[in-house]
Amino acid sequence: MNRDPWKIATHCCYCAVQCGMKVHVDPETRRVVGVEGNEAFPVNRGQMCVKGQTSSELLYHPERLRYPLMRCGGKFERVTWDDALDYTAKQLQRIQARYGKPCVGVYGGGALTNEKAYLLGKFARVALQTPNIDYNGRFCMSSGAAASIKTFGLDRGLTMPLADIPRAKCILLCGSNIIETLPPLMQYFKEAKKNGCTLIVIDPRQSATAKSADLHLAVRPGTDLALANALLCSLAEENLLDVPFLTERVRGFEEALIAARETSPAQAAEICGVPEKDIRRAARLFGKAATGMVLTARGAEQHSKGTDTACAYLNLLLATGKIGKPGCGGGPLTGQGNGQGGREHGQKADQLPGYRKIDNPEHRAYIASVWGVPEEEIPGAGKSAYELLDAVAQKQIRGLVVIGSNPAVSAPNTKHVNQGLEGLEFMAVADFFFSETAQRADVVFPVTQWAEEDGTVTNLEGRVILRRRASDPPGEARSDTFILLELAKRLGRGEYFPYQHTREIFEELRIASKGGAADYSGITWGRIEQEGGIFWPCPDIRHPGTPRMFTEKFATPDGKAQMQAVRYRPSAEEPDAEYPLRLTTGRYLQHYLSGNQTRRVAPLVKVKPRPLIEVHPDTAKRYGLTEGGMARLTTRRGSVVLSVKVTPTIRPDTIFAPFHWGGEQCINDLTNPALDPTSRMPEFKTCAVRIEREATETHTNR
Ligand code: SF4
Repeated sequence: MNRDPWKIATHCCYCAVQCGMKVHVDPETRRVVGVEGNEAFPVNRGQMCVKGQTSSELLYHPERLRYPLMRCGGKFERVTWDDALDYTAKQLQRIQARYGKPCVGVYGGGALTNEKAYLLGKFARVALQTPNIDYNGRFCMSSGAAASIKTFGLDRGLTMPLADIPRAKCILLCGSNIIETLPPLMQYFKEAKKNGCTLIVIDPRQSATAKSADLHLAVRPGTDLALANALLCSLAEENLLDVPFLTERVRGFEEALIAARETSPAQAAEICGVPEKDIRRAARLFGKAATGMVLTARGAEQHSKGTDTACAYLNLLLATGKIGKPGCGGGPLTGQGNGQGGREHGQKADQLPGYRKIDNPEHRAYIASVWGVPEEEIPGAGKSAYELLDAVAQKQIRGLVVIGSNPAVSAPNTKHVNQGLEGLEFMAVADFFFSETAQRADVVFPVTQWAEEDGTVTNLEGRVILRRRASDPPGEARSDTFILLELAKRLGRGEYFPYQHTREIFEELRIASKGGAADYSGITWGRIEQEGGIFWPCPDIRHPGTPRMFTEKFATPDGKAQMQAVRYRPSAEEPDAEYPLRLTTGRYLQHYLSGNQTRRVAPLVKVKPRPLIEVHPDTAKRYGLTEGGMARLTTRRGSVVLSVKVTPTIRPDTIFAPFHWGGEQCINDLTNPALDPTSRMPEFKTCAVRIEREATETHTNR
């Protein structure tokens, strides 16, 4: 028999690049035996990072959940699917009958496929009839998305395809360490540099990406808004504005400039800790370049003023007319695997499918007609992610369904969040590993993962692609879709969920999104397979899709972009005598989000077995810290002891720590849940912290 492996084209399970890969399947055992980058997929062009390369280890991992579990007398016991589903439905019904329908919440994830995200939103509104659904993407993309909506009238993540990057002559990369977070994208930046592009990186750390830049602005965490406004002022002072573009296609320039001028470049330099001459140089480089891009990421966005900050960066694109043309554009670099599609189809608290608004009567009426329910049955807006978890802690929400998320590690102020989760009357969690959140559940459903199911996702460019099933799931693991359909039946609402196959859910999503801001109605699974992915908006089956946005008009009523007048303000928590430093958090190349997956992959753990606190040598000296020694970080919310890495690549007033670990190593025990007023994004990226030496053993750092 020919034992050459079958090669099934699909996509990586982790980040929003959604690298194309070929999964190798042994034809005899039908088991996945390896993966390789798919050179034919135009995004990663064969490259993958170490997480994608080792992703097949997740499939047959000994710690995979194989059977439904139920907490009995403080211990988890294996039960049948029927028992787990019956008990869950009964508990949800009991809680809703006793306390009211909003007292059950639903918490989704940015890794769920488009079909699952759509189904989860419908399940919450139609089966549970609760307004309280939100998802972990609120902690990732919400400020960048809100800024795009305010400025352009629409959030499509990047306004252009990645293939445009090599045509840019100057790129401002704000709060992103591409080399560690989205490594295959570096090929585009390298190509751009070969073509004469100047790369400017804005980051408190001299990250690997910052080292590769022509200019690094080591901004103080929480002050990007002052920096972006100073760049706008400098562009105006140096006459580097695109006046015809501002006149024809933009509203609000004067007001934006007046607001920016409230902080002069000299004052901004003081606030940001970046020399004024470097700010002016950056403005000149960007303003004089014929083409250019501004790309933002979590470093700039995860703040209580993240939306204003992202708006201030988008203002630079509009002021210089660098959008809607080849080599121009930008926007937020989405992080989570389906962070883009996951925020378009209804799992957000204030949203209906197709990026429709839940408080808009026309939008409600249209979706009610698609779902076949009376419009008044669709609840109104619910609580955003942290507010939902806080409502759990306040006992306003008594029952919770968590699908594809691990808030016990990824939410800010996790001690408070976990006390809430432990006090719930009932929690059901669907996951493929026994996450920190699952450990606190009453029922745990074992679910399938990426290579075990079909479904679409939308990458960071807005390209809708298809993941393909290559392997059977272990034990009795079933899809999240199966769980939602079975629960809907048991809640007496099965008639609204008649799907036999995931593809039928996508067909309904197409109709639900038709005419909405995120219009997928011209996209079919067949077209995706034939064309290798389609960019939304795609409003018609003959429409080619829209790789480059805003070429002629913006998605506002009059077609003009709206520059935002945004003023600098300090972070919710500034350093003081008791907590004299700033704590900022971030990622390692080897780990993904809460680490529920990557902390179980041996080759990744071997390289990065634990989190390290990064401190500058001057800071280490001042506090008596040594390389490999232990230090205690304390904020107003908690305290964590971790090993120290002394490095000159961080600002002396700032401490960096990664957020991929839970339990005693959970850095989110310390982070500040102060929320952005628009996006409801917590302030993950800066809070006031104290550091002290701990007299324990010394480690050899990796
Ligand atoms: Fe590609 Fe992201 Fe997967 Fe790495 S984690 S292989 S960059 S999709």
